[in-house]
Amino acid sequence: MFNNLSDKLDKALHVLKGHGSITEVNVAETLKEVRRALLDADVNFKIAKQFTNTVKEKALGQDVLTTLQPGQLMVKIVKDELTQLMGGDAAGINLSGTPSVILMSGLQGSGKTTFSGKLANYLKNKKTKKPLLVACDVYRPAAIDQLHVVGEQIGVEVFSDKGNNDPVAISQAAIAHAKANGHNVVIIDTAGRLAVDEAMMTEISNIHKAIQPQETLFVVDSMTGQDAVNTAKAFNDVLNFDGVILTKLDGDTRGGAAISIKSVVNKPIKFIGTGEKMEAIDVFYPSRMADRILG
Ligand code: GDP
Repeated sequence: MFNNLSDKLDKALHVLKGHGSITEVNVAETLKEVRRALLDADVNFKIAKQFTNTVKEKALGQDVLTTLQPGQLMVKIVKDELTQLMGGDAAGINLSGTPSVILMSGLQGSGKTTFSGKLANYLKNKKTKKPLLVACDVYRPAAIDQLHVVGEQIGVEVFSDKGNNDPVAISQAAIAHAKANGHNVVIIDTAGRLAVDEAMMTEISNIHKAIQPQETLFVVDSMTGQDAVNTAKAFNDVLNFDGVILTKLDGDTRGGAAISIKSVVNKPIKFIGTGEKMEAIDVFYPSRMADRILG
């Protein structure tokens, strides 16, 4: 890995300064460090390149050449741009429905079921919310059991209908159940597959059309790097989802997928998963992620 990027840029520009004035060429050199940091963080190559071009323009426009601490100014520009690129302020979720229906989508193993539980727990702890979890993976009985285990753990009711293989019907029955029993949030956990395929897309699209959720969230494993971008694009093409959940950020990924995904689908990252426990959920803050990516 690399040292703190801020120190590196400071050092690079200071040395250059000692040898006379800093030129555009020197700025370009330091931008190479920035690009390297982004690539190390698994940001898509094209996006890293576009990004450094934008930073270059800003840097030259903001008198980086004459400032006393050019490295620090460069880091500030880089950080501000990264934060902007990842969505600026943290984005909330729409809980305006009665009940508010939240549809979870994503590949198998991305962390959908775990995150459904985390979100239910997070909302339950807000006191005004009474969530209902819904098991809609009709192919894997083990997935239904897993959601029941999660529900028991956090004290949230789980709606399921083992044997029924129609996820649209299950979702609709769950929403009716929620209305009848005072649940104001319904979180629907759906079936994922190991890779994007048509059957999965048709199924989730049918559920989406039938229930018209307030929020459709796409869950993605941050460790999957470049694949995460392609998967995000495939799901967004079909669902036009509202937000992204980036899981497994407790691993050693620097989280470059956050930038790539945001750049490609232009949807906010709303929450992150930082562990297997039900409490390991955090609102996504672009500026914190920028710090992590810059190291
Ligand atoms: P699903 O198939 O999309 O429903 O995925 P699961 O919720 O079953 O998660 C797959 C695996 O990833 C499980 O072993 C989870 O415990 C684990 N997992 C989910 N979220 C996180 C996370 O944020 N961090 C870590 N370390 N593991 C996670």
